[in-house]
Amino acid sequence: MITENKKHTTDHFDVAILGGGLAGLTLARQLLRKHPDLKIAITEKQVFPVSETTHKVGESTVEIGAHYFGERLGLKKHLIDHQLPKFGLRFFFKDAFQSLSEGTEVGGSTFFSAPSYQVDRGRLENHLAKADTEAGATIFDGTQVREVILDSSDNGTKETNHQITFLRDDSLQKITSKWIVDASGRAAFIRRKLNLDEDLGHDINATWFRIDAQIQIDGWCEDTDWQQLTGKVPRRWLSTNHLMGEGYWVWLIPLATGSTSIGIVADPRIHPLNTFNSFEKSLDWLSEHEPQCAHAIEPHVDKMQDFLAIKKMSMGSKQIFSVDRWGLVGEAAAFLDPFYSPGSDFIAIGNTMVGRLIEEDVAGNSITHLAPTLQSVFLTLFQNNLLTYRDQYPLFGNPRIMAIKFVWDYAVYWGFPALLYFNDKLTDAGFIQSLSRGVEEIRDMNLKMQDFFRDWYRADPEVNAVPAFVDQSNIEIMTRLNQELTERLDDEALRKRFDSNVDLIRELMLEITSRVRESLTDIDTSISQEPAREQRLAPVFDMLNI
Ligand SMILES: Cc1cc2nc3c(=O)[nH]c(=O)nc-3n(C[C@H](O)[C@H](O)[C@H](O)COP(=O)(O)OP(=O)(O)OC[C@H]3O[C@@H](n4cnc5c(N)ncnc54)[C@H](O)[C@@H]3O)c2cc1C
Repeated sequence: MITENKKHTTDHFDVAILGGGLAGLTLARQLLRKHPDLKIAITEKQVFPVSETTHKVGESTVEIGAHYFGERLGLKKHLIDHQLPKFGLRFFFKDAFQSLSEGTEVGGSTFFSAPSYQVDRGRLENHLAKADTEAGATIFDGTQVREVILDSSDNGTKETNHQITFLRDDSLQKITSKWIVDASGRAAFIRRKLNLDEDLGHDINATWFRIDAQIQIDGWCEDTDWQQLTGKVPRRWLSTNHLMGEGYWVWLIPLATGSTSIGIVADPRIHPLNTFNSFEKSLDWLSEHEPQCAHAIEPHVDKMQDFLAIKKMSMGSKQIFSVDRWGLVGEAAAFLDPFYSPGSDFIAIGNTMVGRLIEEDVAGNSITHLAPTLQSVFLTLFQNNLLTYRDQYPLFGNPRIMAIKFVWDYAVYWGFPALLYFNDKLTDAGFIQSLSRGVEEIRDMNLKMQDFFRDWYRADPEVNAVPAFVDQSNIEIMTRLNQELTERLDDEALRKRFDSNVDLIRELMLEITSRVRESLTDIDTSISQEPAREQRLAPVFDMLNI
């Protein structure tokens, strides 16, 4: 248990954070690294140290989140010494009884330049809670927030005095604060209180469990050629492995504690939750759809450590920041879909934005314009990302469409939000404004392309997993866009890089659509029929018989 930091005798804080999960604990660290004198309180229901392995789901990071944790928060040593390096995202498509070498695999044969990690959430949150306390934060753990009264009396001009009442040791305590940030996860205290819920029109469910054993996909196929496609040492198991099928995907994530996290995520129109909503049913479901996975789990069923299910997990919020000095971060703000592991990315983006608002306010600057501007940038990124998942689950069993969609989705992600985040520009309202034409074009192209992938599926739904390894390490635009994230650019160079990425994404759109139209002439789309100047993906199209 972490007791209050005795440094602060007052019960008034500069910032009160509701919820000491990943978003809340990282926000405190972020603020205290820049402003060690800020008085920060965190109210958390659980008691630290929390359990390792089974604490939370959300173990796989991608580039933005990994950069935030490793570089912005200075957690690289913890991530390297106490967590696992991640060998990218990897996807397998095959019929139930084919071997892995007979199916299509999409992933890298080498690590991409920008690192990412597999994190044991309990281990990370324990580390953060200890470090935050040492840095001066006051953690009220073992508390249940009961009431929040938001002070909206001064519209961002003078002081605010928010009130938080929580239950601790059977008695009610009250603290007040100038800023309040809701990081209470799915409890979403403020979002619910203010009726800000927004239905995203994206309905997916999940179940997951942890097994106290390392389940290594590398051992599922004895073909030595297949085994060595990713190097001499087995390392596919370090990827976030996705077993793909129509309407679903299954994740396999290794944890540093030696356990494996396994989850099923599905569109209920194709796989209703009641077909896999218990451990036994999940095993039966896996036996039917992913028998090799079920077979690999079988010897370890007695080592099951937890089982959880979540229904209708995606949700949004109409508002996330207020000039009245409150903000929503992490899942208390919004959650999309775990397919490309964007949860930690949106924690990074939201925390960076609310941190900027708090810093401007502390410096005596008005946030009247900045708060709605940053909110609009956040919601634009969120909505753009939503397009990649919404109504796309039927395509998930189709290796040809998905292998190409991955290139598109990664190019949009690395070429736009990741590029700006790595260069610390997502909170620079003026800079973002100067890119608005390109941002709008990417948004428009993404909208059309996600429609196009659905049209492609309608025109050619047949799933034929050709035996192929689509090695993303050999796709030059992917390795380049990822590598470029590791370069720091000044404003002018960044603007040029962004503009050239918009051109690249446009070219990619033309190449993909024209190549697909060559074989499927009846696809009706509003995308220009102009030919692309370069054929960057020709080897991938050839390999997949497109
Ligand atoms: C199925 C699934 C898979 C996912 N996979 C990934 C992934 O691979 N990678 C990824 O980046 N993200 C993933 N995510 C998202 C990830 O889980 C979230 O982004 C992350 O856990 C959110 O962190 P948080 O701090 O906002 O919420 P939490 O970690 O849930 O923290 C909220 C905290 O608030 C506390 N709390 C709640 N109510 C109260 C109260 N009344 N009083 C006091 N304390 C309270 C809770 O105890 C909790 O500790 C996944 C999500 C789901 C649903």
